[in-house]
Amino acid sequence: MNQPTAKKRLPINFLLITIGLSLIIFAVFYIITLKTDQINSASAETHSTVFVKDSFIETNIIKGETNSGNYTIKYPQTTSADFNQQVEEYVTDLKTDFFQSHTSSSTLIIDYSFTHYKNLYSFVLSQKVKQDTLFTEKIKRTFLLDSKNNSILSPETVVSSKQLIPLISKRFSEQEKIKQFNAQRDKKLELANDESLYKQFTISNKNITFYFNPESFTIPYNDTASISISLNSIRNSLNEAYKPAPIKKKKASKTPTKVVSLTFDDGPNTTSTKQILAILKKEQIKATFFIVGTQAKANPKMVKEIYKAGHELGNHSFTHADLARLSDKKIKNEITKTNKYIKEASGHNPTVFRPPYGSFDQRVINYAKVPMILWSVDTLDWQNHNTTSILHNIEEEKSKQMTLLMHDIHDSSADALPKVIKKLKKENYTFVTASELLEMKNKK
Ligand code: ZN
Repeated sequence: MNQPTAKKRLPINFLLITIGLSLIIFAVFYIITLKTDQINSASAETHSTVFVKDSFIETNIIKGETNSGNYTIKYPQTTSADFNQQVEEYVTDLKTDFFQSHTSSSTLIIDYSFTHYKNLYSFVLSQKVKQDTLFTEKIKRTFLLDSKNNSILSPETVVSSKQLIPLISKRFSEQEKIKQFNAQRDKKLELANDESLYKQFTISNKNITFYFNPESFTIPYNDTASISISLNSIRNSLNEAYKPAPIKKKKASKTPTKVVSLTFDDGPNTTSTKQILAILKKEQIKATFFIVGTQAKANPKMVKEIYKAGHELGNHSFTHADLARLSDKKIKNEITKTNKYIKEASGHNPTVFRPPYGSFDQRVINYAKVPMILWSVDTLDWQNHNTTSILHNIEEEKSKQMTLLMHDIHDSSADALPKVIKKLKKENYTFVTASELLEMKNKK
């Protein structure tokens, strides 16, 4: 009985071992196959990030290939977690929908663009689908983000579309694509008069652009449409924070109607010139200083200070000579020596020239090389040393484009200056330098 039992046991043990081994092998294979599948499906989709020129945004790129088609998805990421979540959810939904409704021959492309205006970033995500050989733009979706607060903005906080509906509808019907469609068919493409349709838009420095998906049209149309309207034309519908800067009225009349060029001769010194510089700084006025060479040599720091304050430097001869009475050589010497000391002190050559006593001839003009500037109003400040007289002389000789002659070497002139400026400002004069006034005159 023992032998047969032993004989019987052997095959049973063998069978059990075989089954056991088979199970192990099967399990190992199963695990390997499973892992391979997982690896395959993971490697079918690649993720990458690209930095965009704007430091606020990165582009996430997902590429993938499955049995039901392939896809390339590019979408923005910012420092706003809310925004990132909304965009990611939107993109994931599009992807899921696409695979539920398409076959292997189709391609999905999601891409985006953005504009930046004030604190507002506007994004527009577009979905394109290629089936067979035809690409169609299926849908567009916009997102508005406040980069200052890192928060998503609702369309209502930027623009009130209610007032804009008639304007948008009109522009829509004028759009080339829509016009062509309407011309070819009996029925017209129109925007439904539903306020919720006007909430997809982007804003740039110049325009607001509204986007319309196919379902926004009263007649089905297998494409998106957009229209752009200049921000300035809808400024009343924009909420205060997003209104464009008003167009400056000054642009219309580039040349102010009344201008005055304040000029100060015979300096600089370290007392009244300094006082005048302080007044001009306070009043934010740029003037022109006709400098005598000996004074520049004696007070180089003041020359530099005048230049640094933004005033114009002029040559007024070296010794305050009556140039028309001098020899060629002496005229040349008076002018070049003064240029040299002004340049040494300020780093710059004078850009205008005024002959002492207004005395000049053709030789003087030739040696000066820079434009010669005389004056139209002589305040006679060097003579009268009196504010009332100075103001009286201005009143007598004023004109729409005047050059006012004063001297910065007299305390009485410096003392009169605030009242002179007050009078001119009250009469709406714009203050310019000698060169600026010359340019205005030459333009005429
Ligand atoms: Zn002088």
